[in-house]
Amino acid sequence: MDETIEVHPLSASPTAAWKEIGQTQKVLKLNVKVPSAAVGFDKVRFVCMSDTHSLIRYMTFGVPDGDVFVHAGDFTRCGQKDEVVQFDAWLGTLPHKHKIVIAGNHELSFDKRFVDKFKAKSGADEGEVPNYGKTQDNIRDAVNTDNVKRLLTNCTYLEDSGVEVYGLKVYGTPWQPEFGNWAFNLPRGSACLEKWDQIPAGVDVLVTHTPPLGHGDLVCSGVRAGCVELLATVQRRVKPKYHVFGHIHEGYGVTSDGKIIYVNASTCDINYFPRNLPVVFDVPLPPGYTKN
Ligand SMILES: [Zn+2]
Ligand SMILES: [Zn+2]
Repeated sequence: MDETIEVHPLSASPTAAWKEIGQTQKVLKLNVKVPSAAVGFDKVRFVCMSDTHSLIRYMTFGVPDGDVFVHAGDFTRCGQKDEVVQFDAWLGTLPHKHKIVIAGNHELSFDKRFVDKFKAKSGADEGEVPNYGKTQDNIRDAVNTDNVKRLLTNCTYLEDSGVEVYGLKVYGTPWQPEFGNWAFNLPRGSACLEKWDQIPAGVDVLVTHTPPLGHGDLVCSGVRAGCVELLATVQRRVKPKYHVFGHIHEGYGVTSDGKIIYVNASTCDINYFPRNLPVVFDVPLPPGYTKN
């Protein structure tokens, strides 16, 4: 039977929650290394990136080949049309047969709630909208992009939805615990949990923009930013083989709790320099499936 996940009493204070929950948790750091050998016929190679923030042209490395490319959100600075078009064109140059993309908090134009709210306030006051080096004009330009998701023609865009590749179930969702009024922000606790409750059990590769609590979520100030209920959902109900995310740039790397492998694939570092290599992993093909 499916386990029902409850909101944790310390949900709103993830750092304090981890002090308690972390006592009984294993966090093993794994090596991030791009494999030199080609992928076998009986395995599906995933190549993961995140948080490229329209800075792909500054990358000093190429993207390794594989079967499935995954981008876990924040491919733009604020979701302006030209940023999305540029990202989509770049996706078109990648050799991977399948490309899966979710949005992050920076894709303002992808979140209808954000767009409607911004337009209703006819531009909103400074301070009410994100200010990460983006002007009101940039944001106004972004929210006036119609049908922005249709500009992504070279990938499968997931938003609280899933796709099956080679018999492996992949599910993607852009939501994150709120900070500073960005896209796909939700209050910690039941609002986030409602979104996680939509993730079907038995997903093989889960893609979220936010990290769960305790894995790849340590901010440089020493604070934990991950979602308490996402960790509970992943460990106790969904139990994916891999959980891929980004969002907390300084949390880049791969960890495991002994059962699930957690991948913070943030390409940009904390200074928005795209220096982190894509994270590559191979998943065995399910019985009865081939790659042809
Ligand atoms: Zn980011
Ligand atoms: Zn983000």
